[in-house]
Amino acid sequence: MIRDYLNRRYILSRLEEFVYMAEKGNPLDTFFPPFPESRAGRLLNRLVNVYRRDMNDRDTLTAARELVARESQDNIRQKKQLTQNINHELKTPVSSINGYLETLINNPDLPQAQRDAFLRKCYEQSQRLSSLLADLSTITRMDEASDRIEKEDLSLSEVIGEAVSDMEPLAGRLAIINNFPAGRDIFGNHSLLYSIFRNLLENAIFYSKGTKVTVSLVSEDESGYELSIEDDGVGIDSVHLDRIFERFYRVDKGRSRKIGGTGLGLSIVKNAVNLHGGTIKAVPVSPSGLRFEFSLARRS
Ligand code: ADP
Repeated sequence: MIRDYLNRRYILSRLEEFVYMAEKGNPLDTFFPPFPESRAGRLLNRLVNVYRRDMNDRDTLTAARELVARESQDNIRQKKQLTQNINHELKTPVSSINGYLETLINNPDLPQAQRDAFLRKCYEQSQRLSSLLADLSTITRMDEASDRIEKEDLSLSEVIGEAVSDMEPLAGRLAIINNFPAGRDIFGNHSLLYSIFRNLLENAIFYSKGTKVTVSLVSEDESGYELSIEDDGVGIDSVHLDRIFERFYRVDKGRSRKIGGTGLGLSIVKNAVNLHGGTIKAVPVSPSGLRFEFSLARRS
């Protein structure tokens, strides 16, 4: 009798403790001990388990909501940053075109040689604008419609061959060595694949100051290809290596602008590689130079 009475009192005081925590929506202590073995105790233990599960679901839901909120804030921040960068990048060529045209209009007696020089500069800047707009449209296409990018069966060897022969006239004294074997196929998007090789070769030509750039197939299996594009030029300081794939990141701002780069080349390359199921990194080469190591899936 007395044992039953004490048991009931104990259950009641534990129940009070539980109701108090539940009313506050507090999580139950992991050490909240089970109710004693009895019909009421067993029912209460089941109730406690339901409460625990509910709290767990709520925690998972809250964590998921927080993650989504954080991601969308990051997204908004990145978009804002991109818009600011785009504005900044567009302003430079537009204001210099304005400046040259204004000078030409206000000074009709300018010597012909000077007029020609200004017109040439205008033309250069308008070309810069065109390549900026072309790069931006590629980036937007990859960002906004990545699931709608059309892919087809292609010869990867031929895409590489095309980029190599298009770049050869610009290479000057830098030799382009294409060691990628013939007959390697891929299911991919022609223009994005082409832009990977074109950008990497163009960079080696314009930035590396080296004597050669080599395209190689490092390994292959049934899932895809590991490739490298390596030059023996000046390379990139390790402080910049992790950042060169960011949009508008330039190692040497003055130099890149002068050459006409948009600062978007490597970010296009990275996106295009990702959209073909691969990853890319840049590795310093000893004694000097830069190697881009990347993979491409046969089907993505
Ligand atoms: P851009 O579109 O202006 O050419 P990228 O995104 O292609 O810019 O490249 C980013 C920066 O990385 C460039 O400003 C350049 O300084 C550097 N870079 C890229 N490739 C090489 C290379 N092969 N050797 C040395 N520097 C390079």
